[in-house]
Amino acid sequence: MKTTTSLKQAVLGVIADDFTGATDVAGMLVQAGMDTLLTIGVPEVGAALDADAVVVALKSRTVAPAEAVRDSLAALDRLRAAGCRRYYFKVCSTFDSTPRGNIGPVAQALMAALNADFAIACPAFPENGRSVYCGHLFVGDLLLSDSGMRHHPLTPMTDANLVRWLQAQTALQVGLLRQDAVAAGVDAVTSRIAALRTANVRIAIADAIDNADLRTLGAACADLPLLIAGSGLALGLPAAYVARGWMLPDAQAARLPAVGGHAAVLSGSCSTASNAQVAHWLQSGRPALPIDALQLAAGAPVAAQALAWAEARLAQGPVLVYATAGADAVKAAQQQLGVERAGALVEDCLAEIAAGLHERGVRRLVVAGGETSGAVVQALRVQRLRVGAPIDPGVPWTQAEGRPLLLALKSGNFGSIDFFAKALASVQ
Ligand code: ADP
Repeated sequence: MKTTTSLKQAVLGVIADDFTGATDVAGMLVQAGMDTLLTIGVPEVGAALDADAVVVALKSRTVAPAEAVRDSLAALDRLRAAGCRRYYFKVCSTFDSTPRGNIGPVAQALMAALNADFAIACPAFPENGRSVYCGHLFVGDLLLSDSGMRHHPLTPMTDANLVRWLQAQTALQVGLLRQDAVAAGVDAVTSRIAALRTANVRIAIADAIDNADLRTLGAACADLPLLIAGSGLALGLPAAYVARGWMLPDAQAARLPAVGGHAAVLSGSCSTASNAQVAHWLQSGRPALPIDALQLAAGAPVAAQALAWAEARLAQGPVLVYATAGADAVKAAQQQLGVERAGALVEDCLAEIAAGLHERGVRRLVVAGGETSGAVVQALRVQRLRVGAPIDPGVPWTQAEGRPLLLALKSGNFGSIDFFAKALASVQ
């Protein structure tokens, strides 16, 4: 929350490839004392961006690569106009992408626009079980390719070797900044980066297995024009910027107002964590309604039925509407409808339900799923968010700027098993 009326000079401009990724990184920055503004989509030309960090939330993770590049460059343009000193391309902590992109093409375009000859790419977020070692991404104890991410509806991650995975997406040479150098500290990282540059490496996958590694990388790489990372790397950046005299920490950065009204949860994520969270909500006997992609395709009035169901229950407490399903059910729907159509039908329906719930007095809304969150905020016509403290690592409450509406936008993989009830309890 701002304490002065004068415009701040933004230090960091973040371009996030999905909405929950944007709130995730914004929460990290806020927690470390950066007053952070999140804009949904590219801000208008000339819009005042009054914060230490400005995060632009795009929906570019799974669109065509050319569209992702165009939107990312437009975001960069506005952030540059706002005078940001450094830039951050926020990608998923499970490096969600396919051989065609979009991490590689967007990173390459941003580097070219910034005249950056070197960048690191580091999706690690050890507090959330994402660690990178010898260029391989682990989810908890499992290689990425053995985790539930291999079944992701849109970006199935079938190779844990991120050097190889990213190299398939870009003509720039990809290399590895190994953990032994990171563990040895800032000077070791700096000299390793010099060696990688000499070897013509343009993007190095950076290992990190704990927060100390992330802080070292933040301190060693804060001067690079562009960082490509999950939210974890943001942890050490505010301190690096304060050390450089670029900003002062803001103790009030995380404060959000209390908001009354009804509460609800919408889940369009089929990730392992979301399946467990939905199952936990069901087991605790709370009201929940499933929606089905095949019924949507058959033209059933699913959204209207869900809203009638919810309306009868909202006064008694929060309700959950979910499309979340196991890998077999998702595959069956995708085989009949196609991956994109199944996803779009579900997203559109949940977005319509979100708008209807808002009309019926819902003012605290938890949404599970990155793409799903993108569809929901668009339906609610939210353009800017002020960001609060994380509920669980990676998921903060946010407030639609100037409106009595709180949103917790959860990346599918994040949150403890009781996340939905926990999030709502924290803003009662
Ligand atoms: P996550 O954050 O877990 O990746 P997303 O919302 O980003 O979640 O992506 C999940 C995608 O799967 C969305 O496009 C959503 O509409 C789609 N989806 C959700 N439920 C189903 C289902 N039962 N069948 C097919 N697709 C689904």
